[in-house]
Amino acid sequence: MLRRDSFDFTRIAAPWNLRFASVVPAGIARCGSADDVRTALLWAEANNVPLAIRSGGHSYAGFSTTAGLLIDVSPMSHVAFDGESGRARLGGGARNTDVHATFARLGRSITHGRCQGVGVAGLVLGGGVGFSQRLRGLTCDRLIETEIVTASGELLRCSAEENADLFWACRGGGGGNFGVNTSFTFDTFPVGVVTVFRLVWTSRLSDVLPALLDHLPAMPDRFGCKFLVDAGQAERLELLGQFVGTEGEVTALLAPLLRSARPAQQDMRTLPYWDAQDFLSEDDTPEYVHERSRYLYRIASAEGARTILDYLRRFPGTHAGANWKVFLAGGAVAKVAPDATAFVHRQALMLSSIELNWTADDDAATLARNESWLAEFHAAMQPHASAECYQNFIDPAETNYLRAYYGTNLERLVEIKRRYDPRNVFRFAQSIPLSL
Ligand SMILES: Cc1cc2nc3c(=O)[nH]c(=O)nc-3n(C[C@H](O)[C@H](O)[C@H](O)COP(=O)(O)OP(=O)(O)OC[C@H]3O[C@@H](n4cnc5c(N)ncnc54)[C@H](O)[C@@H]3O)c2cc1C
Repeated sequence: MLRRDSFDFTRIAAPWNLRFASVVPAGIARCGSADDVRTALLWAEANNVPLAIRSGGHSYAGFSTTAGLLIDVSPMSHVAFDGESGRARLGGGARNTDVHATFARLGRSITHGRCQGVGVAGLVLGGGVGFSQRLRGLTCDRLIETEIVTASGELLRCSAEENADLFWACRGGGGGNFGVNTSFTFDTFPVGVVTVFRLVWTSRLSDVLPALLDHLPAMPDRFGCKFLVDAGQAERLELLGQFVGTEGEVTALLAPLLRSARPAQQDMRTLPYWDAQDFLSEDDTPEYVHERSRYLYRIASAEGARTILDYLRRFPGTHAGANWKVFLAGGAVAKVAPDATAFVHRQALMLSSIELNWTADDDAATLARNESWLAEFHAAMQPHASAECYQNFIDPAETNYLRAYYGTNLERLVEIKRRYDPRNVFRFAQSIPLSL
């Protein structure tokens, strides 16, 4: 147990989103095993101390911070691979970086994100979006088994055969709701050579953006991408992606887009999968951020594209900027029924999100102006997108959040919550409640 005066406490206590860094735990239980987790949970309940669970610490809403006991599972970061079955067992505190380090040697993967510090626990429990999702499914789609310590201190194994209802909930029901997951077993897939690309447009975005929105959903499942449009007066759109195939095929697939306007920069490389992930990976430096997402179920109209560009141009401005981005969905994600796992947004074509960043140099008035802009922009997107939001882009400002994250799976999640956490030990501002 670390107390506030312990060595390294400040570093370990700090969340990724600096917006919540002022919430400092009274103590941190550094858990290296399911037994440690059980001891910490039972101690917190016996002493009536609030708790939060942390793996990678990347919750956008600071839901892995608490003024009480922080149950930190990051010491459980082992990854063990079984060559015969192709399955990998990861500790509940493994991060994307541990996946990268182990799987790069093995020529295997799971669907993972771009940011090295994100915890596999948070990622898989909320679904898990990555460049391989259209070919291989979400991170949660290849989960075979997970072990979880419940509020009573019991260690449960969950799979299609054992505690199947809790296993269902652990694939999209969101982190922190049912217990502390101490391991995850995945069915991995082999990886070879892929083509990765980054294209940047700095003009004619009113042509490029609708063309991308129209064109991308028809891409083959081997094509995964995200694109991002910067807020502000200077036009900038970046398309970043991965294709299981050749540069020639990517160029042919992108040809209609390139006809609408030529990019100012174009970088395309064919690389072994794990070298390609270095090209795609994103900076992990902690930030002040507010992220607000919406799923798109139909191709956003030309009017939708105008709304997006209009809001981006009217960005009030901070020291760190803002953007609107899209992750292409569909493919293998959509082949699973919305009620087959707790992840409900199966039929969406794309996941869109507005990201507002700032720094400690932005004063309260600047922040208030920018938050109003973000709220208006988010509301204006609803007619062009949907009321559904990604539970892993968890958003403290979302009002109808339970329905937005879980849709028609909400009632079943509430039933499962009552069964496994009847005293509501695992609660935070947007946790699944015991009743609706
Ligand atoms: C820079 C950045 C990049 C991202 N990129 C992607 C991406 O590419 N794809 C994507 O899908 N998402 C992405 N996300 C979102 C990410 O999936 C979520 O923020 C996720 O919840 C982070 O998990 P974590 O373990 O790092 O965070 P934490 O803050 O540790 O945990 C997130 C939630 O899960 C709970 N939790 C953590 N560990 C456990 C556990 N072992 N058992 C039970 N509950 C637990 C926490 O209490 C908290 O409520 C990104 C986020 C950031 C900040």
